[in-house]
Amino acid sequence: MQYFGSIWRPPSEADSLIIQATIGCSHNACLFCSMYRDKSFRIRSTAEVVADLQWARLNLQELRRIFLADGNALAMPPKDLEQILDCIQANFPECRRVSSYAAPGDLLRLTPAELVRLRERGLQLLYVGLESGSNTVLRLMNKGVDSGQLQNACLKAREAGIALSTMLISGLGGRTYSTEHADASAELVNAVQPEYLSLLSLMLPEDAPLAKMVADGRFVPLQALEILHENRRLLAGLNLQRTIFSSNHASNFLSLSGRLPGDKERMLAQIDQALYKPEILRPDYARGL
Ligand code: SF4
Repeated sequence: MQYFGSIWRPPSEADSLIIQATIGCSHNACLFCSMYRDKSFRIRSTAEVVADLQWARLNLQELRRIFLADGNALAMPPKDLEQILDCIQANFPECRRVSSYAAPGDLLRLTPAELVRLRERGLQLLYVGLESGSNTVLRLMNKGVDSGQLQNACLKAREAGIALSTMLISGLGGRTYSTEHADASAELVNAVQPEYLSLLSLMLPEDAPLAKMVADGRFVPLQALEILHENRRLLAGLNLQRTIFSSNHASNFLSLSGRLPGDKERMLAQIDQALYKPEILRPDYARGL
């Protein structure tokens, strides 16, 4: 089994076998992100990936979940990805779920028929980093796509029957765009109606370009209570029919989880309580990626 560089996966994939279908991120230019700065993007050959899967079959016990890394496994040619999914189905009949991160650009490039074929071969869940619904914030952060493209990409995956776990980053608009970030993000998520929605809070790794913008005063990050006010505004604006919501990620000051719409009022009350009693918040030094 070969691994290249640091490996990232969503918290919910903690027990999954991680297989690198691609290395790094083909965009690798978002100002807040340093996850794959140490790697040049490349797509692995199917032979390499299949060799990893064969090693896993011989050496590991029951595997219920497989996560295809790195940042955008869907950049792989769809025929190659189909071959890898076929290999998983043939060798891991016990596997209940195959998932990966999905870049919006990759989803937009794949045809509806290609996405359906990937789903039929077991790709059941895609993690999409929306980050924000605000075009101002997306542009500022060099995300490379706008809100309309994010919406179209997500709806395309949903129409193919693939479940979506979407992520937003609290504080990504800084102090200047916090309100716009909350309102536009709620609007985008309402249009997508994802199965899962996770909130992360902005962290500033030293090697992320955004850290330099903070240092020279071009970006003013939110403090903990400002993040909570932004979260409250976002949550209040959500109009979701059937979504599992969580802010359990280690980057957050306050951990929330619940089903929307049913648990909305309870989670708003939890935010209000934390605003009244900030000592219950996770201290800044204890936050992590
Ligand atoms: S946030 Fe996602 S798309 Fe942007 S550089 Fe990081 S991994 Fe790539």
